[in-house]
Amino acid sequence: MSVAFFPALFGNETIKSVLGKDILTGRHAHAYILEGPSYSGRHTAALQIASAVVCENRTASTRLPCGECLACRKIAKGLSPDVYFINSDGKATISVDTIRSIKEELYVPPNDTVCKIYLIEDADKMTVQAQNALLLSLEEPPSFAMFLLLASDSEKLLPTIRSRAPVLRMQIFTAAQVLSYLKEQLCNDVPKVSAEGLKSASLLSGGTIGLAKLYLSEPKELKLSLEKRKLAADLVSQLCGLKTAEAVSLIALLPKKRDELKAILFLALHALRDLLAAKKADSPPLLFYLSEEELPSFIRTVSPGKILSIIDSVLKTIQDIDANVSVQLAVTNLLLT
Ligand SMILES: [Zn+2]
Repeated sequence: MSVAFFPALFGNETIKSVLGKDILTGRHAHAYILEGPSYSGRHTAALQIASAVVCENRTASTRLPCGECLACRKIAKGLSPDVYFINSDGKATISVDTIRSIKEELYVPPNDTVCKIYLIEDADKMTVQAQNALLLSLEEPPSFAMFLLLASDSEKLLPTIRSRAPVLRMQIFTAAQVLSYLKEQLCNDVPKVSAEGLKSASLLSGGTIGLAKLYLSEPKELKLSLEKRKLAADLVSQLCGLKTAEAVSLIALLPKKRDELKAILFLALHALRDLLAAKKADSPPLLFYLSEEELPSFIRTVSPGKILSIIDSVLKTIQDIDANVSVQLAVTNLLLT
């Protein structure tokens, strides 16, 4: 019998096939790190994994989790007493006390399923002491416990944690894949929007379904972000073409607030990586552009080496902004030197 693993999770075929089979046969690990940016489906994946582990129809359904048994429905509704959410509660870090509180009840058997699942959101915000406290639980977990660590950057976790929890990387989609997903879902959970709105949300999604959906529910934010994307495209063409007279007027248009400027620089990086990918391969996976036809014409004249050096300059500018260099100076350095 072929089983569809984690049916609520879009894409991510590697995670589905490898982990799905391990859960079905009971050979899964006691801890996993789900790594990916915000909106990349980490929560959906974690809840699908949690449901699969406790699903009452684990071996009797063509879907794992089945989504229909009591255990699956309780998790979907956020009502399972055996799924524990641990997070920073709005603070910059997750403290050692928060993690110690897990240990106090770790060895108490589950309430009404076969497993207790600890879902640690923003696990990369755990302090070193908190990570060391967690390590004690990861080293000798009871057979009925599972830890799912959600992180943007698993490198921020101690090597000793990573050695006990395999890293599952969330798939980042191309803009075209996000668009095709949104079109398929139109009848379901995405509100009716214009074809242009769907395209815009896909182009701004950063390759994540969650962000595209967020933009669809916030039309004002979508419009503002499209303006940022246009500025990022102008910035990239300016950096590739280097017409100094226009650079001065572009500097005047770029935002003066650090976070807003950084958002544009990250979008520019997506565009530059697309250009580089298009230089190096046929049918490259594109994030900033929807298709090869939409790539700017100057791609024919700019070399891969030049694109790489521009990427370095943009990364350096982001570093400067983080290091509190004046925004005006950072932008002037980028465009005029
Ligand atoms: Zn089920």
